Amino acid sequence: KPILLWLRRDLRLADNPALAHALRTGQPVIPVYIHAPEEEAPWSPGAASRWWLHHSLAAFSRALEAAGSRLILRRGASLETLLRLVDETGAGQVLWNRVYEPALIERDRRIKAALKDRGLAAESFNSALLFEPWTVSNKSGEPYRVFTPFWKACCATGLPDDVETTPESITAPTCWPDGDHLEFFDLLPRIPWDQGMAACWQPGEDGAHRALEHFLAGAVLTYKTDRDLPGQPGTSRMSPHLHFGEIGPRQLIRACRRLQAQGAGAAAGASLEAFMREIGWREFAFHLLFHFPHTPEQPLDERFADFPWRDARDYAADLEAWRRGRTGIPLVDAGMRELWHTGWMHNRVRMIVASLLVKNLRIPWQTGARWFWDTLVDADLASNTLGWQWTAGCGADAAPYFRVFNPVLQGERFDGRGEYIRRWVPELKPLPDRYLQAPWTAPAGLVPREYPRPRVDLGESRKAALAAWEQLKGAS
Ligand code: FAD
Repeated sequence: KPILLWLRRDLRLADNPALAHALRTGQPVIPVYIHAPEEEAPWSPGAASRWWLHHSLAAFSRALEAAGSRLILRRGASLETLLRLVDETGAGQVLWNRVYEPALIERDRRIKAALKDRGLAAESFNSALLFEPWTVSNKSGEPYRVFTPFWKACCATGLPDDVETTPESITAPTCWPDGDHLEFFDLLPRIPWDQGMAACWQPGEDGAHRALEHFLAGAVLTYKTDRDLPGQPGTSRMSPHLHFGEIGPRQLIRACRRLQAQGAGAAAGASLEAFMREIGWREFAFHLLFHFPHTPEQPLDERFADFPWRDARDYAADLEAWRRGRTGIPLVDAGMRELWHTGWMHNRVRMIVASLLVKNLRIPWQTGARWFWDTLVDADLASNTLGWQWTAGCGADAAPYFRVFNPVLQGERFDGRGEYIRRWVPELKPLPDRYLQAPWTAPAGLVPREYPRPRVDLGESRKAALAAWEQLKGAS
């Protein structure tokens, strides 16, 4: 009897535990992808993620075909579609790798029970994480809320780096069920705003490995220092590949261990540890989302539920300027334009643009999280929620609320020569370095007319943010 392999966010052949399990049975395998974005509501994939998904599915289809198999695409409710496929193919079991968003955990639980009720075998595996979120807890059996002890506990257990082998061929069924065309999913934008993304990304498993090899051959060795410099290619850019499961965290740990075993020097060793620690932040994000499933909408720190945000009618124009990269604060505008153009933004700049929105402009963090959700190719409910709640000071292990990033000082420190700003805000290219971070301090006539005046006074708005915090503390 054939096995249905239900693919979701595990679009890879290598280190794919559900696929490896299916192959070990020796039975024919029918790989299936079901497009059911409404089941992910209220966090159905945003526009940039849909773009990525289209190309990732196309790449995965090609990879399966090269292995003698196919990817059957279907549109419709997951359970009904799986049951129809069972009827059509005579499959006896359904296998998949787990996803961890609250709505999907609930859906999968329901599907597993329904399949078992009908006498079908249904089994799920872990392809996406080093540790299942329910297996890590503190001494009192509670989930962690602070990163360092969480990561220490993970490291003490031993970071898994065992990976499943990549199949060369996949046994095909004697008869394939019909599938939809990928175009039928309607994932690509109707107006072509995606050229910038197409120019800098290669979605799919091959693209993931190519990007990883590039990183391992260079930037990883100086990651500890260069990861904070947005003008340098100092980070791995693995995030969208990880999100779609084109590569898994165990493969990354294995690659780091291989370099360590080759005797990387002390500085490179520290960089490898720093890189693995960031993989740890991703694990922590999944841990938090699993244990606190309300946090994509609600602050983990309940005191922030009544935060005195500005009124939506008052901040509409500021929000639009932030989205379009026209706040008049160069580092923020550079970040927002990088995001719009490439679907990605450097981590340090993500913190800075988020801090400006939440603290200086006093716009709710959920509004910023939604914009990121729509525009990031790596939009991920766990990591996005952690990042926004961290910056807003209301999450686990968060930056204290009163820590307001100063984008001018941050720019001087991390983009001192202005490479990043000049790349993304080209109208400021001719401005001398000493005015680049704060063009409003330049003598009249130096700043081109098309670049806006700052929408907010950084000093005054910082004071207002701190006053709002005092008000909140006083009330609680
Ligand atoms: P690298 O520095 O090479 O790190 C390697 C991997 O570690 C990343 O691919 C990522 O999986 C993980 N990682 C690194 N930093 C973090 C972090 N702070 N939190 C969680 N995981 C991390 N990351 C997302 O993947 N999706 C998001 O939607 C997302 N939204 C964010 C929103 C805000 C406001 C902030 C401050 C951060 C957000 N991040 C998000 C985390 C981080 O910015 C990105 O993971 C990182 O920039 C991706 O680039 P990279 O792959 O080159 O990272």
